[in-house]
This record gives sequence, C-alpha cells and structure tokens, in this order.
Amino acid sequence: MALKWEHFEKVLGMYLPLNCPVCGDIPFDGGANQFCAECLKSFRFIREPACPSCGGEHNGILEVCPDCLAAGRKFPWKRGVAVFRMDGAVKEVIYRFKYREQPELARALGRLAAGAVRSAGLRAELLVPTPLHWVRFLQRGFNQSELLAKVVGKELGIPAVNLLRRTKWTRQQAKLDRDARIRNLEKAFSICGSTNCRGRCILLIDDVMTTGSTLAAAAQTLLEAGAAEVNIMVLARRQRD
Ligand SMILES: [Zn+2]
Ligand SMILES: [Zn+2]
Repeated sequence: MALKWEHFEKVLGMYLPLNCPVCGDIPFDGGANQFCAECLKSFRFIREPACPSCGGEHNGILEVCPDCLAAGRKFPWKRGVAVFRMDGAVKEVIYRFKYREQPELARALGRLAAGAVRSAGLRAELLVPTPLHWVRFLQRGFNQSELLAKVVGKELGIPAVNLLRRTKWTRQQAKLDRDARIRNLEKAFSICGSTNCRGRCILLIDDVMTTGSTLAAAAQTLLEAGAAEVNIMVLARRQRD
C-alpha cells in the first residue's frame, strides 16, 4: 500500500520549518519547499541544447548525445527531459532523497521538475511513476518516483496514476551488458489499476536514468497497452564524460 502524500504534508507542516531541505538556509525567494540560492548554484542543471532522446547534456552536433548513440538503439519514447546531470551536489541530494529517508525532498525537486516539463513544452494527460518491486518498496517505505510524480502532477494540474507494477525482481542493470539488460527486463512490468491508458499521452517519471533500459521496458509496456505516446522525465541523467 502506498504511503499517502497527505500524511507527509501533515507531518511536514507540523515539524519542519520551510527552509532549504538540503542546508536549512532561507529558500531562494522566500517561498516554501524550495532550495536556497547557494544549493541551486551547486546543482548542474541541463542547459539547452539538451538531447531530445534522454534530456541529457548534448553538444548539439549529432542528433542525440553520445550516451544515447552508444545505447545502440532508439528508445521507445518520443522525447525525454532531464532536470540535472547526475554529478556532485545533485548526486548527494538524490542519494538523500532515495536512501537517507528524506522523502520531503520530493517537493523541492518536483517543483524544479515541473518547471523543466513546462519549459520543454511536453504535453501529458497522465503522469506515471516508474514502480519499485514490492520488496524494494517495503525496504524503502516509499517510491521516490511516485512522490515526484505527485508533486509534478499537482504543479501542472495533471493526474499522477500508478499504472505500472514491477512484476520481476531485476538485478542491477548498470553492471550488465546491453543484451543481458534487455533480457533481464523482459516482462519486468505489467499494467495495474483501473485507469485505461489507451490513446492517452503519458509522461513516465523516474529519478535517475543511466542506461535507459528500465525506462524503455516501462515505456514499452505502456505502448503495448495502447498508450498513444510516451515521453519521459527524469530528475537526473547519468552521463559519461
Ligand atoms: Zn540550501
Ligand atoms: Zn541522450
């Protein structure tokens, strides 16, 4: 059972002053749930021209970035947006968000993510978080992608729906070669819930994209279920130098 967002809101409202969730300083423009100017300065935001495929950093010379080229195949989604490059301070924040029990970071991160979706002009009728396997969900107590999707949805006025279920326990993708990755993810996701995705334009949401194989398997599942279009939004793109 998913932890209800309202529970976080209640707890946060009671115990947390609305300071920068990383350093505790005064937020950027004094508003709630935002990073301070210093923390924002330390994050490596993806600037234009971004790779149209993964949303990562791109020199604009080739059609896609070298990492997407190296992946050796076209991803099943149409466009990708990434907020940050997975580096330095960003790495630390995402680590805190995922592993150090700071789910409240979803609010500040989600606001930035909503801004990135808006400025990329990505249209979506439904936001779908990438699910965790239930064992991992129990270990962590929350799904960081689901929390993100809820904040982005609230900001953009688009419903966030848990449309996917992770049916298979998958090994760490980054350590496998390309074919093994694809085999590892066969039938890794299935559709769940009562929302029909047939003919809908879906924005798939995840925290980090490394090889793109997990997102590709999730996007493929949605397309096979009849989604008209799938785009992706990730907080951070891990890229080679
Ligand atoms: Zn700060
Ligand atoms: Zn790319």
